[in-house]
Amino acid sequence: MVAGLDEKLEPIYQDVLRRNPGETEFHQAVREVLETLGPVLVKFPEFAEQKIIQRICEPERQIIFRVPWQDDSGRVQINRAFRVEFNSALGPYKGGLRFHPSVYLGIVKFLGFEQIFKNALTGLPIGGGKGGSDFDPKGKSDAEVMRFCQSLMTELYRHLGEHTDVPAGDIGVGHREIGYLFGQYKRISNRYESGVLTGKGLAWGGSRARTEATGYGTIFFLEEMLKVRGDSLEGKTCVVSGSGNVAIYAIEKAMALGARIIACSDSNGAVIDQAGIDLDLLKQIKEVERRRIRVYAEEKASATYLEGGSVWTVPCQVALPCATQNELTAKDAEVLVKQGCIAVAEGANMPTTPEGIQVFLDAGIAFGPGKAANAGGVATSALEMQQNASRDSWTFDYTEQRLREIMTNIHRTCYETSEEFCARGNYVVGANIAGFLRVGHAMAALGLI
Ligand code: NDP
Repeated sequence: MVAGLDEKLEPIYQDVLRRNPGETEFHQAVREVLETLGPVLVKFPEFAEQKIIQRICEPERQIIFRVPWQDDSGRVQINRAFRVEFNSALGPYKGGLRFHPSVYLGIVKFLGFEQIFKNALTGLPIGGGKGGSDFDPKGKSDAEVMRFCQSLMTELYRHLGEHTDVPAGDIGVGHREIGYLFGQYKRISNRYESGVLTGKGLAWGGSRARTEATGYGTIFFLEEMLKVRGDSLEGKTCVVSGSGNVAIYAIEKAMALGARIIACSDSNGAVIDQAGIDLDLLKQIKEVERRRIRVYAEEKASATYLEGGSVWTVPCQVALPCATQNELTAKDAEVLVKQGCIAVAEGANMPTTPEGIQVFLDAGIAFGPGKAANAGGVATSALEMQQNASRDSWTFDYTEQRLREIMTNIHRTCYETSEEFCARGNYVVGANIAGFLRVGHAMAALGLI
């Protein structure tokens, strides 16, 4: 059973459904936040008077545009791209670009909405936005990806700026794509404006530890949750979904802290390696060769491959969903709990369905929702903007130390807020309310804009 809505919030949610038809992921993200805000309206009635919640649910600006490009055989291809500039009460819009065939307005809006609260939780001066395209980089040549990125930026650049809107990567957008996007921005604007994109390469304005930040940050958050329970990652068996940027660096940090990672996946299937995932091999296959996870099992005798399978059937103590939205259902959650899982930290955005979250909360296991647990990526992007603004470049260790402090603070804020609102240890309540309060107070202070 998923919780009901407060009587003041139900009409707001109904309005969101009516105004945004068919955008199911956006509806889900809004509902999940509204479910926790009832007590906030009791404590701060001014938020209702000023319609702060209604305003937060409506993006400040939405941009949809055509991206024409030519493939290697000279054929014209057309994609659609989006940038949703959701909320700039705390700073310039900040949030990644996703390239995946499933991208449509509802996905971009769910991600942008989550981003508002996540960015607020970091305590840094960044608003919330998100973008992307239904372009599929899989199977495309470097030249095709470059032509697509150049065409996309030819329209997007006019909406960006280091004080306006600062995109980064997400699914399907890594160093290669950020490079082509930045190159085209620089060429059109005739400005070397490093702070206009984050996730850049080290040689041209990127931050050390940005590649690692989301995965590492998720593990730092997990560590804090376990610490509250007098426990640690040492010796724990973990499974991780996905094998992209977030998954790989969550695996790396979890291993460094003594965990044993026994499974990971991609959208075709999962590999199980009871000897422990060989991180070097995984990086070689996924980062260097850009091949499928199946290849891991072909090259490693101790591994088995489950075509079409998921990692959630593998018995473990810690589960790390690091792939995509709604990838972990109530049924998966029940299996995980039954098989002894004691903690879940979401590296991905909204990977657990509402019913799945309820299973974890009812079982009393440590559950770190994405908007808190994966905030390390955007936090380190904000640190990259800070370095760009001061034309500085920090060491890896210093940047990682700042990331760790930020994640510890986010954990503390969520935990203390959950206590204050009578739901101790419920990080869903803590993250939603703490993020909302920071944005809500700023919006109220800025007047009706
Ligand atoms: P990548 O594109 O680097 O990796 C995504 C991974 O997830 C790939 O291995 C992909 O496999 C896999 N995947 C996608 N769909 C499924 C599925 N249905 N089942 C199993 N695996 C699947 O993206 P990121 O690692 O950057 O992003 C992963 C998640 O983390 C997303 O939810 C993103 O929004 C979130 N996130 C990312 C941040 C970042 O800094 N990159 C910051 C905060 C959140 P395949 O190759 O087969 O598609």
